[in-house]
Amino acid sequence: MIAFDFEYYKPTSIIEAVNVFQQLHLQGKEPIYYAGGTEIITWARRNDISMKAVIDIKAIPECNVLQFQNNTLVIGAVITLTHLAEANVFPLLSRAAGGAADHTARNKITVGGNISGRIIYREAVLPFLLANSQVVIAGPKGIKYVSIHHVFNKTLQVEKGEFLVQIITDQSYIGLPYVVMRKTKIQKVEYPLTTIAAIKRMGRIRTAFSGVCSFPFRSPEMEEDLNDRSVPLEVRVNRAISHVPAPLLNNVEGSAEYRKFVLTNTLTDTLEKLGEE
Ligand SMILES: Cc1cc2nc3c(=O)[nH]c(=O)nc-3n(C[C@H](O)[C@H](O)[C@H](O)COP(=O)(O)OP(=O)(O)OC[C@H]3O[C@@H](n4cnc5c(N)ncnc54)[C@H](O)[C@@H]3O)c2cc1C
Repeated sequence: MIAFDFEYYKPTSIIEAVNVFQQLHLQGKEPIYYAGGTEIITWARRNDISMKAVIDIKAIPECNVLQFQNNTLVIGAVITLTHLAEANVFPLLSRAAGGAADHTARNKITVGGNISGRIIYREAVLPFLLANSQVVIAGPKGIKYVSIHHVFNKTLQVEKGEFLVQIITDQSYIGLPYVVMRKTKIQKVEYPLTTIAAIKRMGRIRTAFSGVCSFPFRSPEMEEDLNDRSVPLEVRVNRAISHVPAPLLNNVEGSAEYRKFVLTNTLTDTLEKLGEE
């Protein structure tokens, strides 16, 4: 049960959404954008959030796009993880996002909500970090196109009133060799101990991680180590792990020590699968 009342708005255009946000903000209603609602409803039930209004962005046409345009793949922010898996237009993304939650939850969870959420895992962002995707952000100052690396630093960094509309990926990334490895403690439907998504482009491996530390990331230092073919695979993997950008997670899914063990093995398997043994 949600123990407080809130207003619900469902704009049908970007400009309407931004305007509604601003009006509600001025009225002190602390509005938030609402996509799949899976995280918002969980917080609301726990009284971890106290918004007086939500703005559902699911009726905005630009947020519902899933198509190839001018050698790019355009994915609207409210496309669900189930839709992505079934359409399978970007197999790496289908695999990376398809591991999160269970089928029922994935019917609701949106790609934009996953990337924007509070949860530390946010596995759907990994393919976009690997593919240097662009994101479309709408807000009071208009619409901007920026690199995912510009706005995603541990979390999605948007200004008040801004929201993620689309993610645009160069089509040349879609068919590259890829590996996604998701390791959990016991069952498949659990938060990951480690999820690694990797691609090989022009002979170089790119890797992105979730579940390793308290945010998803891609690390240039780790990729330098992993691509240094002058040393054996084991050394490359150990050096890369020494460059994880924050302390390894230590939680109910697994201790930091156990995570390091799983990460070492999973990273080795990933490189072997991409032909780097
Ligand atoms: C049982 C269960 C297990 C799960 N396991 C995993 C897992 O293992 N790995 C994983 O990665 N995820 C997992 N998730 C998903 C995760 O916890 C969130 O529930 C989900 O990512 C939120 O997506 P949503 O579309 O429902 O977002 P919402 O709940 O609608 O929104 C979440 C947050 O993002 C903001 N937001 C939403 N869309 C946008 C946008 N377009 N622009 C800007 N801000 C936006 C909202 O304002 C809110 O702050 C799991 C969820 C469930 C229910």
